[in-house]
Amino acid sequence: MPEAPHDQSREEARAEARLTAARLSDEGVVALALTWIDNAGVARVKGLPLRRLPEAAVEGVGMSPVFDVFLVDDAITSSRHLGGPDGDLRLFPALDRAVALAAQPGWAFVPADRYRQDGLPHPACQRAFAARTVERAEERGITFRAAFETEWIVQRAEDGSYPTDGPAYGLHRITDCSDYLRDVLLALEAAGLTVLQVHPEYSPGQFEVSVAAGDPLGAADDAVLVRTTIRGVSAQHGLRASFAPAFEPGGVGNGGHLHLSAWRDGRNLLAAAEPSGDGAAFLAGVLRELPALLALGAPSPASYLRLVPSHWAGCFQCWGVENREAALRLVQGGDEQANVEVKCFDLAANPYLAVGGVIAAGLAGLEAGATLPEPVQGDPALLPPERRPARLPTTLDETLTAFRASTVLRDALGDVLFEAIASVRAAESAAYGTRQPEDVVAATKWRY
Ligand code: GLU
Ligand code: MG
Repeated sequence: MPEAPHDQSREEARAEARLTAARLSDEGVVALALTWIDNAGVARVKGLPLRRLPEAAVEGVGMSPVFDVFLVDDAITSSRHLGGPDGDLRLFPALDRAVALAAQPGWAFVPADRYRQDGLPHPACQRAFAARTVERAEERGITFRAAFETEWIVQRAEDGSYPTDGPAYGLHRITDCSDYLRDVLLALEAAGLTVLQVHPEYSPGQFEVSVAAGDPLGAADDAVLVRTTIRGVSAQHGLRASFAPAFEPGGVGNGGHLHLSAWRDGRNLLAAAEPSGDGAAFLAGVLRELPALLALGAPSPASYLRLVPSHWAGCFQCWGVENREAALRLVQGGDEQANVEVKCFDLAANPYLAVGGVIAAGLAGLEAGATLPEPVQGDPALLPPERRPARLPTTLDETLTAFRASTVLRDALGDVLFEAIASVRAAESAAYGTRQPEDVVAATKWRY
């Protein structure tokens, strides 16, 4: 029988779960969506009645490890360590993150931590990977604030038409969709998220929401919660939301930009326009690792339809101050606000892998005293070839090659998780790498 995870005793876990269940019950919750994100970036779930929460907090809920090698289309591959019908894991609810879902009355969202049956952490648990990486940084005196932006495209469920034909960033779109966007905002805030902005984006029917930054693990949980909430509100309005990297071949896609600031002794290491010292080394570490990091942040065959020049997707391996075509945009705004925005990432990413991977790469840069090249101004695609920075990988296959060569990411992820990710990327690349963009879009449009 597994032990309750973390350093809690079984009785402590049961007592905390009872309190959480009572709180949720007061909010009308009767069912829990115990959720984890697989390596393909798809949210998977076990639903359970609220009354089972104390039991789940002590014993966990069973689930096969085969989900670590599921693909976006639900096909199943295998890795050196994982795959096949054998074995079982236990999902433990992260009780402190359990929250009622305003757009799905009666349901609460709870992220899951995955453990082996003997009570040890599952080596391929992505949430544990993120937590572990943050801890490693804390041991070096560094903490982070992080947030994911969410872009999505919305259509009427009935006929696939757009609920607005207003212009990009146009007030017209908010007017057309005012009830829907108000309900999105209310549902996000009801879930405890602090909404910073909601705005129409560039593509037809496209919107974006940003929420306040928090600790990296919380930011990854929030990214899942934001999407679940938007999907729920959309359904209530007869709409369908797509978070896929590419929605129309050739169009501007949905990004999942990650904002991150690194702090030591109350000081934001990225606050200067020209980062120096540890801030520069951290950024240089991320920059150097970007081709491999795409395996975590732009993991879908569809990611490469989005990641093209002059689409604000950041497809060149460079950084720039407030440059929206650089893969790393240094966002200014004083000590409180300054951060790096990883623009090349999208929402097919498992957010725990994305944030943990970036932090691991930055820490490696710090340890190596990596040096930061000059910033790039303007659209790199328009620079003369001799001054143009390298293009990031243009296919999932190229990304996989970079990932396989990354000792930084292999060491940080551990062999079991690393190999599972590599196997999923290889299998999706084999299945979709040579297909027409229309087919890739059709296979991924509604999955993330
Ligand atoms: N939709 C763009 C992307 O694919 C980003 C637009 C923006 O800069 O917000 O990342
Ligand atoms: Mg945007």
